[in-house]
Amino acid sequence: MSDRIAHLPTVERVAIGLWGVHCNALTDVPDRLPWLIEQWLDGTAPQKDHWISQAIEVLRLAQVNPGLLRWCDWSGCVASYDATTGPGESGWMRHRSDALLCPEHDGRGHHPSFTWHPELTALIAACSCGERSEPLIPTNRGAVLAWWANHIAQLPEGEGR
Ligand SMILES: [Zn+2]
Ligand SMILES: [Zn+2]
Repeated sequence: MSDRIAHLPTVERVAIGLWGVHCNALTDVPDRLPWLIEQWLDGTAPQKDHWISQAIEVLRLAQVNPGLLRWCDWSGCVASYDATTGPGESGWMRHRSDALLCPEHDGRGHHPSFTWHPELTALIAACSCGERSEPLIPTNRGAVLAWWANHIAQLPEGEGR
């Protein structure tokens, strides 16, 4: 990092970085960073307030510990919530096999579960729509969810993802 911005508050350094990424995305001029820093420091940078507010948002999001995020298990879904604050909206459901579904996907009528094979050597994964798997080995959550994700992927357009 340039010595010229090392003394700036973190939020301003992040803002310069975001602005720099934005500018480089729009032009092919190499080494724009010194030029950007020059403009930032002499106050001629456009939309300085905008980039500072973007930087504040980025820093706020960075406070979220990724290990505390809980994701919808429907493949392709990016819905999540922070376990320390909870989902904030009702309708999230955790199903047998530990699958977690967001309100939208919980409403699709495909909830994974499992039972043990009579000889206790394998699991039979099942979906609440009636689909059942062949005996699954290894006997763990991952195998059940992998079968279920494959089942979801084969649903007709619109019913699946
Ligand atoms: Zn979802
Ligand atoms: Zn199903």
